[in-house]
Amino acid sequence: MLDEISKKSQNAVPDAVLNSTKCVVVIPSIMGGTVNVSAGGVASCREAADSWSGPAFVKFNGHGMGAHPTDLLVFVLSDKGVRALRSGELQIGGQKRVAAPLVSTTPVTTQVELTAELLTYEGAAGVLSSSEASGMIRRDADTSDAVHNAVPRTMIEKYLSSVVSFFNTITATGIVFHHTAVIPGENTVPRSGRDIDKYHQARGFEILCFGRMYHVAYHYLIMPNGRVQPGRPERCEGAHAQGYNSYLGISVVGDFSSEDNPTGKKGPIRPSAKQIASLIQLVRRLKDRYHIPLQHIVRHSDISSTRCPGDRFPFRSVLDQLQWKPGGVKPKRR
Ligand SMILES: [Zn+2]
Repeated sequence: MLDEISKKSQNAVPDAVLNSTKCVVVIPSIMGGTVNVSAGGVASCREAADSWSGPAFVKFNGHGMGAHPTDLLVFVLSDKGVRALRSGELQIGGQKRVAAPLVSTTPVTTQVELTAELLTYEGAAGVLSSSEASGMIRRDADTSDAVHNAVPRTMIEKYLSSVVSFFNTITATGIVFHHTAVIPGENTVPRSGRDIDKYHQARGFEILCFGRMYHVAYHYLIMPNGRVQPGRPERCEGAHAQGYNSYLGISVVGDFSSEDNPTGKKGPIRPSAKQIASLIQLVRRLKDRYHIPLQHIVRHSDISSTRCPGDRFPFRSVLDQLQWKPGGVKPKRR
């Protein structure tokens, strides 16, 4: 169920919600059609950034579900919610219900949503929406240790890998431009995607996404000859700009800071014409694919105290070209 949900971009739960989630409860395929439902599922809590506790068996008793088989997904955000779940009785619905946001319907996640005790989604026919269900999630006392121990180790590992992947999935909401600068200790810009992957592996930028491990922090690299080299998949959370990891990271190979690379000793001092052409083409495609507004296309230096991607990166001209639709009239410079 988690794998299915993360594959569909229309199901995207905002990155801010995913990153604030302390525990998740998954109740698959609740048979609808009756007023009161009772169904079993599992719960896991975050132990570290990319580590979750093994499945604890739970039972949901409640009402307010649709007539069709429905998956229920509860994100516990507050410590109070975590305590309730741990003590064996977590109430969902009721008066404090906050509508659960989706990227497609709520572009900006608000503080109200993030300070809610929990957010409840339901999935029907593979599509998520905010749930109206109410009821109680209790620890499943019938599921003894014996049953727990009967679950094969490989199945638990598969489950945990799906949970981690699920929380690492994004639907892009913006784009950040970077330059690669030099690899410390090597004093030269990276020659290949493999160089960057090795360097990022050493820095611990790894991420488990769709069951595979990726190291490179960016989503795309643009080589000096204009070749576009894919990094981690677009639906995988980035590791290139703190607080902006639902933005896609594109890194142009070179060091375009006149302060850090005044004479070109550390590689190209400005992007080549081929790099800029590839960059524009790539950004146009991503912008259309994810409906990214122009205001959400930024330089790393616009959102963080860094010189990246350098003062010689022609940001203004890139934005102008993005505004200018092929076949349209080029806008006058302000
Ligand atoms: Zn950067």
